[in-house]
Amino acid sequence: MCGWKTAFFDLTLPQMEEFVISLGRPRYRADQLWGWLYRSLATDFAQMTNLPRALREELAAQAAIHTLTPVAETVSEDGLARKVLFQLHDGETIESVLMFYDERNTVCASTQVGCAMGCAFCATGQMGFVRNLTAGEIVEQVIHFTRPLREQEERVTNVVFMGMGEPLLNYDATWRAIETLHDPQGFGLGARRMTLSTVGWVPGIERLGQEKLQVGLAVSLHAPNDEIRNQFVPLGRRYPINRLMAACREVVARTGRRVTFEYALIDKVNDAPELARQLADLLDGLLCHVNLIPLNLTEGYPHGPSPHERALAFQGELERRHIPTTLRVRRGIDIQAGCGQLRSRLPFCETL
Ligand code: SAH
Ligand code: SF4
Repeated sequence: MCGWKTAFFDLTLPQMEEFVISLGRPRYRADQLWGWLYRSLATDFAQMTNLPRALREELAAQAAIHTLTPVAETVSEDGLARKVLFQLHDGETIESVLMFYDERNTVCASTQVGCAMGCAFCATGQMGFVRNLTAGEIVEQVIHFTRPLREQEERVTNVVFMGMGEPLLNYDATWRAIETLHDPQGFGLGARRMTLSTVGWVPGIERLGQEKLQVGLAVSLHAPNDEIRNQFVPLGRRYPINRLMAACREVVARTGRRVTFEYALIDKVNDAPELARQLADLLDGLLCHVNLIPLNLTEGYPHGPSPHERALAFQGELERRHIPTTLRVRRGIDIQAGCGQLRSRLPFCETL
């Protein structure tokens, strides 16, 4: 629900069927609605011309397509990242980003307003936890970016749940959003094109490993030992690295898919070559990939990114041990749209 109206992006197809039946309409109207929402990307019930006019009016009175209002948009100087600030129906705000790569258009979606995990270097963590997003609020972020792309005969090719919040602490809504976006009768985004990033919430990783849909798993590791990791990832005290790694190994064993480990390179904090060697020992034999991300600056954290040579040296140590790595191309740093820079605030920019 959004206010007193039913929020359509929140519904599963069976729930949509229940809804139309409660209006005294035949079940197949739900399939038509589903097509309008996820294939035609309709913005208004009036566009749904194969529905009887009376039904369209009834829907307009009782249901809402949109619950997110874009209030500001910033585009990075190179044009390769667009960040949107959305206002939610209760006045809270979130940010989402669209990033353009050579052959991908990737949406970075938020799953919570704020985050309770308090990682020291993360702007979202620095603002604290406000509330979970609903499935519809997660889905709508993706739909929002899809519409203008469609006009250029482009589409959203990938979704990463790496925006604000910890997706595994809002498991049900995040998973429902994944299922909705995946539905081949609707939006039709392949499960493999979606990746969820977690700070290391072990029960959630275990649950994810049991799911039929195999979305990608990324784990924010950031250090090869607890002593260093716990300095900036408080959850490490509850789930130390050995438990986290056991859960990851289990997922790889079950799914046969590689896990991505994210590693923010922080100058002189976690970027010594010796730590790269420790990391290689930790990951030895595991089907994985390491994403090295030079730290993005946030107001509440005093450290900076590793200089490029040091980042390359760290990467070199891992590659010498045959651990696949990427030194991440940073998108949107100039508009605070990089990893860990999202928070709820009005940027100094054009307002929509
Ligand atoms: N809560 C999830 C997903 C959102 S954060 C998680 O923590 O994985 C997305 C990624 O950005 C995580 O890997 C996170 O550790 C990383 N990150 C946070 N702050 C960052 C910063 N200042 N610079 C670079 N990466 C950062
Ligand atoms: Fe939350 Fe992820 Fe930020 Fe940590 S890095 S505070 S888990 S959003």
